[in-house]
Amino acid sequence: MSRTQTAQLMDGTSLARRMIEESAANAADITRRTGTSPCLATVLVGEDPASVTYVRMKQARCAKAGIKSRYIGLPAETTTAELIDVLAGLSDDPEVHGILLQHPCGPHIDERAAFEAIAPEKDVDGVTMQSFAAMSFGLPGFMSCTPGGIMRLLEAYDVELAGKLAVVVGRSAILGKPVGMLLLAKNATVTYCHSRTEDLSSIVQEADVVVAAVGRPRLIRGEDIKPGAVVIDAGYNPGNTGDVDFDTALTRARLITPVPGGVGPMTIAVLLAQTVEAAANQLGIQQS
Ligand code: NAP
Repeated sequence: MSRTQTAQLMDGTSLARRMIEESAANAADITRRTGTSPCLATVLVGEDPASVTYVRMKQARCAKAGIKSRYIGLPAETTTAELIDVLAGLSDDPEVHGILLQHPCGPHIDERAAFEAIAPEKDVDGVTMQSFAAMSFGLPGFMSCTPGGIMRLLEAYDVELAGKLAVVVGRSAILGKPVGMLLLAKNATVTYCHSRTEDLSSIVQEADVVVAAVGRPRLIRGEDIKPGAVVIDAGYNPGNTGDVDFDTALTRARLITPVPGGVGPMTIAVLLAQTVEAAANQLGIQQS
């Protein structure tokens, strides 16, 4: 197949590496000045293989960045009340600076109630209602990590957002909704699409910036992309496939994130940066 590549790739791997190096330097500074290393507690309910892999990966990255991690593995039959007790205990533990509840937790858990048991100052994954509200109002707080990573990528590639039409496909609490709020804060005109949206293609075709956050392989096709648009593919489906048909979108977009190597690495980089920031706040350290 002959094709003309026009899009520049947005290299999340390299940007994430630079961010993690910065977090490592900041973590070392905190450890040197206080004798305490930043510590992230990770809570996992059950043994879902994908979740186990994610948690291990996050622990490994923490270790590389000089961030301590504490792993709390709970049995699959843990109740919402028991999970809330664990999260409340970590929220009160001065040795823990950040808390991550790996989700999904299982259908019997009230995930919203569990997230709300995380103290906002330790909510480094940006999942509580307070974090969402603070982010939406532009007040201090932690961002949902994937949206935060997407915004860092857009900034790194000097993508102008003011007055541009940004179409977000997906409206989950951890991804679609918050990324729309962050784009709005940068003065983009934001349209949300979801499973009930009629004629998705024609809406996406208008977009200057497309954020695909659906979990449906290649839902967005190249012909849906306006020539010169910026395409952020947050989707991660089996077989390393995104929500955008990469090969065809490549010929129309100006900038595009690859899958893998685009949004994915940025998520963890934001998680580490926010853990270090939480530790600095809690230990009363000013960082540059
Ligand atoms: P989710 O909670 O399942 O939400 C999916 C969203 O897509 C929902 O809002 C849903 O609409 C919408 N949707 C489903 N089918 C659609 C369709 N045919 N047309 C338009 N919208 C449709 O998923 P999520 O947690 O946000 O994750 C989305 C994707 O991002 C997944 O592939 C996930 O693996 C990936 N992800 C990647 C990272 C990373 O670090 N790279 C992090 C988080 C998630 P309704 O609201 O109407 O149901």
